Amino acid sequence: MNSEKTDGPVSIIFDIQRFSIHDGPGIRTLIFFKGCSLSCAWCQNPESIKMKPEIAFYTDCCIGCGNCLKVCTEGAVSMQSDQRIAWDKCVACGLCARECPADALRLVGTQYSVSELIQESLRDKDFYDVSDGGITLSGGEPVLHSEFLLSFLPELKKHDIHILLETAGNYPFLMLEPLLPFLDHIYFDYKLPDDQAYQNHTGKGNQQILKVLHALTDRGFPLTVRIPVVPGINTESHQIKIICDTLHSFNIKDVNLLKYNRLWEAKIPRLDTRQKVLHISTDAVDYDQVTDGFCKHDIKAILSE
Ligand code: SF4
Ligand code: SF4
Repeated sequence: MNSEKTDGPVSIIFDIQRFSIHDGPGIRTLIFFKGCSLSCAWCQNPESIKMKPEIAFYTDCCIGCGNCLKVCTEGAVSMQSDQRIAWDKCVACGLCARECPADALRLVGTQYSVSELIQESLRDKDFYDVSDGGITLSGGEPVLHSEFLLSFLPELKKHDIHILLETAGNYPFLMLEPLLPFLDHIYFDYKLPDDQAYQNHTGKGNQQILKVLHALTDRGFPLTVRIPVVPGINTESHQIKIICDTLHSFNIKDVNLLKYNRLWEAKIPRLDTRQKVLHISTDAVDYDQVTDGFCKHDIKAILSE
């Protein structure tokens, strides 16, 4: 991709996954937008939080050649320790990643113009057509890129492609509202029982999130609520009851529960992040008990990986 864009809005994307059969119906391309307004303690994509590109360092790949030290003009590389990058000096220019022969340094986040992302999105159009698949906007929080999406989505829709948005809802509704005519479905992450729990575990309260959920359900917009199961944090019976009460207040009768996994923990040492390993065992939860807990409150819960 070009590093300088002059033809209209651009966005920072940190991954594009083709041929996905998760995160929506059929065969899909998942586009991961960089930048999020929450910092969930269990975030699966810690590289998604910052809105700008960043360098990730994979210690195990490094062969100690010193190329990175030679090319860095910011004095942000050190060969003296296991951690190669001084994050406070790094400007994410990507020079070191280009010169690293071992792929130990990787620039996370690439700038895309609308036309470039359309081109990427159409590569598997034949597969979307035969499988009733399409494009899933993920992140990070895609809605933080609403200005870009306002140009991108109408172009994408011209090709008659199913578009699904994954969102956590933490932004003013007016950022999402103009995008709705181009969206077919929303996966809405609702994570925790109440405002205090949101504050404690995501860094932000849930007031804005509830307003967005209210605006969507009020319009009858097709959405699926998804709840990432985090053992002990949203799995106790009193926590499940509060979540169910909230869902009933929006007339929501079913949810998808996402199983907890620890794959994200391996990413932590590679990045400049405040996120910490949680030391929660994946066995620390009885999923049958959790789904039963929702059923007991008249919410149908389906468990997914
Ligand atoms: S990305 Fe640029 S500034 Fe950061 S360490 Fe590499 S060469 Fe230095
Ligand atoms: S260029 Fe890559 S392999 Fe060489 S020292 Fe730097 S990080 Fe390690």
